[in-house]
Amino acid sequence: MNRDRLERLAAEKRFIPGIYNYCDRWCEHCPQTSRCLNFSISEEEFSDPEARDIRNEAFWNKLSGILAETLELLRESAKKWGIELETLVSMDDIENIKTKDVAVEKHLLCRAAKRYSELVEDWFRGRETLLFETAAAAREGVNLEEAFEVIRWYQYFICAKVMRAVRGRIEEEEERCDEFASDSDGSAKIALIAMDRSIAAWAVIRHYITDGAKGVIDVIAFLDGLRQAVEKAFSSARSFIRPGFDKIDLNG
Ligand code: SF4
Repeated sequence: MNRDRLERLAAEKRFIPGIYNYCDRWCEHCPQTSRCLNFSISEEEFSDPEARDIRNEAFWNKLSGILAETLELLRESAKKWGIELETLVSMDDIENIKTKDVAVEKHLLCRAAKRYSELVEDWFRGRETLLFETAAAAREGVNLEEAFEVIRWYQYFICAKVMRAVRGRIEEEEERCDEFASDSDGSAKIALIAMDRSIAAWAVIRHYITDGAKGVIDVIAFLDGLRQAVEKAFSSARSFIRPGFDKIDLNG
């Protein structure tokens, strides 16, 4: 995509600004694809099957082309505001970023979220098909594959979003930012939604599993504990309004 096209597309009124910041990136199931700039860019760029293939070199070439165009646009906008992007990051900033990386990695919530993704991996090892259970569920009109898909989709996503929320909180505290709608709450909210959906999917599996039910209950209990801990640490997260997905409660 060339620069003109990118600018024209970005100016279209149908897009909701920042909608992709607090979504779950599952575009295949997203009800707002027509209002998402990210989606439109990738549709235009990767619409042919070959380009969609992540292993295809064209994918990465196109991606770096978009990145170059975006950076150029960003630099020009920054210049208009009198900002030189190149001078924004000093050695102190780099040290500060590294310190934050370590703090985030060590944070209890992040370690627990990472542990959850490992538990999922352990549970699925050697169990990808679960033919007997899948057939039993199908007889009752339940698609067990969907439950697997949900869990797999959010397996690493939860950890990534919890880490982003923790990092955002550290930065907000540093900047003494006490705005109600903070980025950390938005990240925590989508992590909580991913946990809600994963727990529901685990409950479906629990219903049909014939061997190793205790293991499923352990995973659910672990994830529920993580969910409660995130809710406690980010007490405003559930009320965060995600652009394009949540409605403002005018009575609340
Ligand atoms: S808002 Fe929807 S379409 Fe856009 S990136 Fe997120 S999931 Fe995909």
